[in-house]
Amino acid sequence: MLTGLNVDVVRGEWSAADHSDLTLWAVARQVSEVARQSGWTVDADGRVVVDRYLRSVDHPRVFAVGDGAAVPGSRMSCQAALPQGAYAADAIVGELRGKRVAPYSMGFLAQCVSLGRTEGVVQRVHRDDSPAGLWLRGRTAAVVKEQVCRSTVLAARSSLFAWPAGPA
Ligand SMILES: Cc1cc2nc3c(=O)[nH]c(=O)nc-3n(C[C@H](O)[C@H](O)[C@H](O)COP(=O)(O)OP(=O)(O)OC[C@H]3O[C@@H](n4cnc5c(N)ncnc54)[C@H](O)[C@@H]3O)c2cc1C
Repeated sequence: MLTGLNVDVVRGEWSAADHSDLTLWAVARQVSEVARQSGWTVDADGRVVVDRYLRSVDHPRVFAVGDGAAVPGSRMSCQAALPQGAYAADAIVGELRGKRVAPYSMGFLAQCVSLGRTEGVVQRVHRDDSPAGLWLRGRTAAVVKEQVCRSTVLAARSSLFAWPAGPA
């Protein structure tokens, strides 16, 4: 998709001056230093290592979710961060009420990216995030991606949110 739009993709070390008139810095996969500085057990990326209930393995009263949490089988994405946040909220309320929630479980649905209104790729995935057969591209994919973004905003505003269970 990017090649077709005459975009050079540069990975790793680079110098903007060497490569283009216009450089788009796409994504930084970076985690806050807060967890490491707090002395909690973190992985190589500085993400808090959690148990099956998304609690720090050092401190059961500390929940970690989203990009800052090393949740097995997950990847940094809003697709993962949203259910983790909702789960942690439920778990905290459950504990306050003396109820133990089930271990965290979440399955992926798709990987998607859009570039403007007319270009995009949507790859359907199995619950373990491995590619499944269905994929979309072009304007159709961009429209689907926009609906994904809209549903995210709707979920945040309405507190209505559900997600599929993880792979067995
Ligand atoms: C350019 C870009 C595009 C992306 N596109 C997609 C996409 O299309 N689909 C997808 O699934 N994911 C996408 N992601 C990833 C997605 O945004 C993240 O995975 C998701 O937002 C993680 O949620 P989070 O709550 O863990 O962290 P965040 O959403 O980053 O929230 C962390 C919050 O903590 C605050 N904070 C940080 N340090 C401190 C501190 N010391 N004290 C107080 N507050 C602090 C920050 O200001 C921020 O508001 C994208 C990311 C980027 C950068």
